[in-house]
Formats: sequence, C-alpha cells, structure tokens
Amino acid sequence: MLYKEPAPIKDRENPFESMMSRFNIAAEVLGLDEETYNVLKSPTRQVIVNVPVTMDDGKVRVFEGYRVIHSTILGPSKGGIRYAPDVFLDEVKALAAWMTWKCAVVDIPYGGAKGGIICDPYTMSAGEIERLTRAYTQALVDIFGPDQDIPAPDMGTGPREMAWLMDEYSKTKGSTVHAVVTGKPLVLGGSLGRVEATGRGVMVSAMAAMDKLGMNPSKSTAAIQGFGNVGSWAAKLMAERGVKILGVSDVSGAYWNDNGIDIEDAIEYKNAHNGRLEGYKGAEMMDPDELLTSKVDVIIPAAVEDVITIKNVDKIQARLIVEGANGPTSYKADNIINEKGIMVVPDILANSGGVTVSYFEWVQNRMGFKWTLDRVNERAERIMNESFERVYAASQKYNVPMRIAAYIVAIDKVAMTYKYRGGF
Ligand code: NAD
Repeated sequence: MLYKEPAPIKDRENPFESMMSRFNIAAEVLGLDEETYNVLKSPTRQVIVNVPVTMDDGKVRVFEGYRVIHSTILGPSKGGIRYAPDVFLDEVKALAAWMTWKCAVVDIPYGGAKGGIICDPYTMSAGEIERLTRAYTQALVDIFGPDQDIPAPDMGTGPREMAWLMDEYSKTKGSTVHAVVTGKPLVLGGSLGRVEATGRGVMVSAMAAMDKLGMNPSKSTAAIQGFGNVGSWAAKLMAERGVKILGVSDVSGAYWNDNGIDIEDAIEYKNAHNGRLEGYKGAEMMDPDELLTSKVDVIIPAAVEDVITIKNVDKIQARLIVEGANGPTSYKADNIINEKGIMVVPDILANSGGVTVSYFEWVQNRMGFKWTLDRVNERAERIMNESFERVYAASQKYNVPMRIAAYIVAIDKVAMTYKYRGGF
C-alpha cells in the first residue's frame, strides 16, 4: 500500500507523499481494506483555473489558481485559500487532505479542501488583489457554496479577501450568502474569537499534553517559531498560564531572553513595527537555526512547513512539540522524534482550533444569531480537550505516537461514515 507520486519534487519532501506516509501507517494499524484505502487517498476533485486580471498599468495578466476538494464524505468541504508565488498543486493536495483529517479529529461535519493562487500579494496593489479574488471566485462559483465547499483564509489572505469572495459569490446568487466563507470581518458575519482561535487551541492542547507528561506550566519554558497570528497568540496565552517563553522568532530573526520574554510587550512592539520584531530590545538576537534546538521544555513551530527535519531533529532538547503550523515536521524526522521519546501534538490536532471556530462562524451565519466570546471560547476549548483525549486514548490503545493516533482517529471516522453512506 505504498503511495508514490508520479513526479516527485527534487530536493524537498513531497508534502502529499509525506502526508500519505503517515496515512499508510495509520491505515495499516487500523487494518483498512484496500477499497476504502483507495477512496480515502484520492482527492475527489482537483480544479485548475487560469484567471485573467487587469493590472494597474492596464495590462492583463493571467494567474493560475487551484481548488482541491479532498473529501466530502463527512460534509461540505472546508479549507483555506493561499496566495503565494511558490504555491503548487501537490502542496494544495496535501493541505486539502490534512483538512479532511483535521475536521474528522475534532469531529465537525466537514470534508477537506484547499485552494491557492500563484501570485505575490506583497507586490500587488489592493485593487489588483481584489480583482484577482473576484475573478477566482467567479471561476469557482459552481464549486463554492455553504452546503458544498466553504473557503477560509490561509497564508497571504485574510478577512479582506474573504469579504470580497463573499460579496462576489452573493452577487452571482442574487442574495447575501454569509455562510459561503469563514474568517470574514466581524461586521460581515465573522465570529468573535476567530482571530485568536488557532493560538488558543495550541495553548489548550499544550496544557493537556503537559498534564499527561506531569509538567508544571509555571515551571516550564518554551520557544516559539513564528510570531504571527498563531505564534503570538499561543505565546500570549501560554505566558498567561505561567509558561516562561524564552525564545521567539519571525522572518526578521530569533530573539532570546533567559528571564523570559515579556510577550505583551513584544506583541505591542510587533504591532507598531509592520508585524515584525526587527529591532526589538526586550531580548537578545540569536541564530534562528538554533531556536528549535535550544534548551527549553516545549517547542512550538508556528510558521512554515518542514522546519523539523533529519538535519536538526537529533539536536532537539524539548520534551514536547506542539505543532501550530501545518506540516512543520518532515516525515523522515518522525522516527527519531519517537526514538527520543518526545511527545508531539500533531498539526491536525494542535492547530484545529481555527477550523473549529470557523465552523462556529458558519453555524452562527446559518442561525442568523451571534454568539458571545465566552460561548465561542468555552465550546472551542471543550472540543479541543475532548479531541486531545480521543487521540491520547488511541495512542495508548494502539501503542503508537500521537501523530499516528490522530490519523487513526480521523481515518476511522471518515472510513466508518463512508461505509454507512455507501459507494456507487
Ligand atoms: P502569519 O502570516 O500570521 O504568521 C507567520 C509568522 O511566521 C510571521 O511571524 C512570520 O514572520 C514568521 N515566519 C515566516 N517564515 C519564517 C521562518 N522561516 N522562520 C521563522 N519565522 C518565520 O501566519 P499564521 O496564520 O500565524 O500561520 C502560521 C502557520 O500556522 C501556517 O503554517 C499556517 O498554515 C498554520 N495555521 C494557521 C491557522 C490560522 O488560523 N491562522 C490555522 C491553522 C494552521
């Protein structure tokens, strides 16, 4: 049952193969039959669009975009849209599959999808990005829908793009359809608590894992890679629970303070400096390559993919890794992590607080009723804790690491639902 991509990408682990390698182990432990295996491994739909956009200089440029629907077995597909110059189909396929497993792990009634457009949003004007977003929405208007496929923000997109998408979709349908997209601005039907939801979920799962490991938060230290939405919220909420954050990093470099970084102060600095910590004086600069291998109890990769690999995994000193980012650990590093006895709260569990509150946004849109922040946080925390316990119990039952346990929980749920629904 070994899955190999027809054209592997050189010098980089193919993200879809990396996802499939874990899927294969979990499928084998579960004894998944070949038929169901074949159904679950194949994305249901892969759409490639080429959208012409008039640029500010009057010239027309054509942008390539993707939407991959991995599965709709549990319900309408759900997943973000990434704007990046190097986004590619296999990455989108892997991210779409991760969404299927993530929604299944937290037991919300969604399948998985992901989208992307090859573009550099940081060099485009707001007008160009708006025209691109509207053109992409038009190209996919028959795919999207509150009962079919519900996009959300991902790297390079945010509430602004989701508002344009909702507006363009609504114009085509002739009525306002809030629930076609999540991660919208609050005034347009966004949910309270969505912005901090992923970082909050990272904190909740970190606390649950520390409890299992017998670690006392107020006697523990952590380093966090990435100080954007997920990293800075996780840092703030962990610090509030007593964890000393010794190191943080972003694209401008890595910052270290033996006495613990004042996270509120660092966030304030970042907000006043274009979202970056460059020039921050509350900590010393350090080599960014050493952040994840520094002497701390917990590391939280919350930036990009493939940062824990065979190149640095040997040097990791932490007892616990909580994956805020999607795919931060390469498949080849898994074995060494397990040999070292490090607990990993895997991405599909640790960062699922975001999609959970996206689901709440969709529910609120469909009810036409807004929940309070307390209600959102309380329900999200309950779901995160229950999901953690489900995955932990599977890891004990099958004697496998938490990552494989999360895949087992997810695949089991999707496979069982598929059996009840039946095929052709
Ligand atoms: P963001 O753009 O808000 O922040 C990214 C941060 O990472 C920034 O501080 C950036 O400077 C930093 N960064 C980028 N490259 C880096 C590098 N090589 N080394 C160190 N820092 C680097 O993005 P985000 O929303 O916080 O997302 C971070 C990760 O979490 C991504 O993998 C994303 O897919 C995942 N994720 C996000 C959400 C969400 O709700 N935002 C949900 C699930 C998963």
